Amino acid sequence: MSAPVVLVDMDGPLADFDLHFWLRCQEAGYGFDVGHVNDQRHRYFTDHLTDPAEKRAARAMVDAPGWFESLPVVAGAVDGVHAMIAAGWEVWVCTKPLEANPTCRDAKAAWLAEHFGKGFDRRLIITPDKSLVRGDVLLDDAPKPEWFARASWRPVIFDAPFNRDGSEWGHLDRWTWGQPLAQLIPTEGAKP
Ligand SMILES: [Mg+2]
Repeated sequence: MSAPVVLVDMDGPLADFDLHFWLRCQEAGYGFDVGHVNDQRHRYFTDHLTDPAEKRAARAMVDAPGWFESLPVVAGAVDGVHAMIAAGWEVWVCTKPLEANPTCRDAKAAWLAEHFGKGFDRRLIITPDKSLVRGDVLLDDAPKPEWFARASWRPVIFDAPFNRDGSEWGHLDRWTWGQPLAQLIPTEGAKP
């Protein structure tokens, strides 16, 4: 049996985009309609900003060079990715570009090398349509349901406050760092 191929989304499972967004907006004094970062119900945290001018300013912050370079690593992600590699899995990072940010692509590659090790930037696949990328599993906090029909991978939701029950991802399998790898890709003879 060939090694499982796991495609890992970047913003969400690896880079803590939403936490960074929340903290930078708090520093700027922007007003949210939720009281805690874990109360996020909308896919895009900007949709929790109440003032249109602050929403525009927050979008400009995300679209500016430097944003992706400064994202913190999600807790458990470095150990988790290296555990996958140690288990013999092929790990590829599969991300959609943020077209509005002019340095997004280079920044994402540099960020992976910095936090996950030299050479890991060569594991980066940037695509607007993840259904075109082959794999056994796509671990993603917000995969587009329209990808599912033609994808070779099985979607597994990386758990986040906005993608739970009641969301369009609530019915799908979910997983997060620290759970056994066998629950993400069951191996033969080993039930999760
Ligand atoms: Mg994501």
